[in-house]
Formats: sequence, C-alpha cells, structure tokens
Amino acid sequence: IKKTVSVLGLGLMGSALAKALVEEGYEVTVWNRSEGKPTPANTKRVKTTAEAFKSDVVVTCLSTYDVQQPLLTNEIKTLVNLTSGTPEQARATAQWAKTNGVEYVDGVIMAVPQQIGTESARILFSGNENHYVLDAFGEPVHVGEDAGLAASYDLALLGIMWATFGGYLQAVALMGTYGIAPALFTPMAAGWLNELGAMLPEMGAVTQSRNYETDVSALDINVSGLRLLTEANSEQGLDTTIPQALHDLFERAQRSGHGAHSIASVIEEIRK
Ligand code: NDP
Repeated sequence: IKKTVSVLGLGLMGSALAKALVEEGYEVTVWNRSEGKPTPANTKRVKTTAEAFKSDVVVTCLSTYDVQQPLLTNEIKTLVNLTSGTPEQARATAQWAKTNGVEYVDGVIMAVPQQIGTESARILFSGNENHYVLDAFGEPVHVGEDAGLAASYDLALLGIMWATFGGYLQAVALMGTYGIAPALFTPMAAGWLNELGAMLPEMGAVTQSRNYETDVSALDINVSGLRLLTEANSEQGLDTTIPQALHDLFERAQRSGHGAHSIASVIEEIRK
C-alpha cells in the first residue's frame, strides 16, 4: 500500500510537488495558508494543518523556515522538508524533529517547478538516508550525514547561479548600449560559459593545493581588465556595482601579494 502524503504550501513549487505525487499514485492531501491558490487536481484540500498531519508523510514547501517553524507539531509522523533555508536552520529543524519523535529528511530542490517529476530535477538531501517520497519529484541525491549539508550545497550552487546571471545581465545591458541585441550576443555567452565550466576542476584543484603559480593569466592582468570593464559600463551610463565589487576584491588580493598568481588566489582574500 502506498503511503499517504500531505503537501503544505501551494506556491509555484508546492503545487508542482503535489501534482507529481498524484502522478506517482500517492493519495495526496494539501494545505495552504490562504484560500486563493487553486487546488491541484485529484488532491484533497484541508483547512487545518492538524488534518494534513494525519498523512504518513508531510512535505513542506513554504517561503521560509520562519513561516514554517510555527506550523510544525509532534503530530507529524515523517517530515520531508523542502523549504529553502540556511544550514543552521536545517540542523535546528533536524534537532527539533529528533526531540519530538518526528522522522525527518532535509532536502533542497535544484530545479524549477516545470522540471518536477522529470529526471532532470535533482533533489539533494542530507541527514537521514531514507528519501521517502523524494523520487516522485526527480532524482534524489544523498549528499551527507549532516542535516545541514543539503542547504549548504543549495546556497553554494545558487551563489554560482546568481553571480553568473548577474554577470550575464550586466553584459547584455552593456552590449545593448552598443546596439547588439540579446539574441545576437547570447549564443556566444552560452558557449563561453561552457568553456568556463570546463576550467573549474583545475581551479578547484589549485584552491586545494594552494600552489597559485600560473603560466596562463596572472591576477595583475585580470585586475586591469576589471578596471576596463568598470570604466566601459560607467561610460555607457550603466550601474557598476557588479564589476566594481569584483575589481575591488581582486585588487585586494593583488595588494596582498597575489599579483603574479592565478585568479584562484582570490580565494585567499575571500577566506580572510
Ligand atoms: P511561492 O511564493 O510561490 O509560495 C510560497 C508559499 O509559502 C505559499 O504557499 C504561501 O502561502 C506560503 N507562505 C508564505 N508565508 C506564509 C505564512 N506566514 N504562513 C503560511 N504559509 C506561508 O514560493 P515557491 O513555491 O516558489 O517556493 C517555495 C519554497 O521552494 C521556497 O523555500 C523556495 O526557495 C523553494 N524553491 C523554489 C523554487 C522555484 O523555482 N520556485 C526552486 C527551488 C526551491 P500563501 O499562498 O497563503 O501566500
């Protein structure tokens, strides 16, 4: 017999999770704070969290831990927490679950709602090795024993995403001022990102060995380049927050004596 599952939160992601559970043949109960959000097909909508907690498994997908925490009670049997938070918040919730006799798994969704229920949706989880219903959503990947690890991976990977998207949008704005449309520029940007991605294993190894000698490109020349980029954006009347911040960070690493070293040496400045 399949377990019964409740989903708390019918936002963009919570609705996609409920739909995927229905498609996997689970009996699904849903709860949402406000009534405005539509009820996903073939689910049972309940008005109180107490009713939702009767299911074998409760999946939470709310905006933040701050709004989630007051809703949790020891009536829950198994909690699959997919609300985004910090590693510390995840560990505290794992501790709360342990104290209250609630089975617990902490997961993060590395996908958008449209990918849920397909193999392309990766769900990282940590702590408890039992993934309960996570395979209904995509491919579950256990990242370690510490309950905070999934949240750590989540924020680290999103950090790369935000920095990349920020850099891309800055570039599109800059190219726009030179009359180059996104459609013309973007294929080149996407190809460039693939090349940069291929450089990461080597850079990662250097950050571990801390041998920053290079015959590729010294930090000095990159600081000069970031100055040029900042100037060009400024000349075109654009915001310079992103290039200026990178310039300042790289320049501090240069002043600390890494001018002749590879870009990877900037990690020493970040770790300070
Ligand atoms: P939405 O803004 O679409 O939904 C937020 C949900 O939280 C709603 O159900 C909302 O209820 C509920 N909520 C907000 N405040 C409260 C409160 N005080 N009490 C009770 N419920 C509350 O967000 P998403 O669905 O996009 O995101 C949900 C979680 O999933 C987040 O932690 C997000 O980081 C994570 N996530 C989202 C991804 C995405 O692509 N969308 C990708 C990966 C993770 P109400 O309808 O009443 O406002």
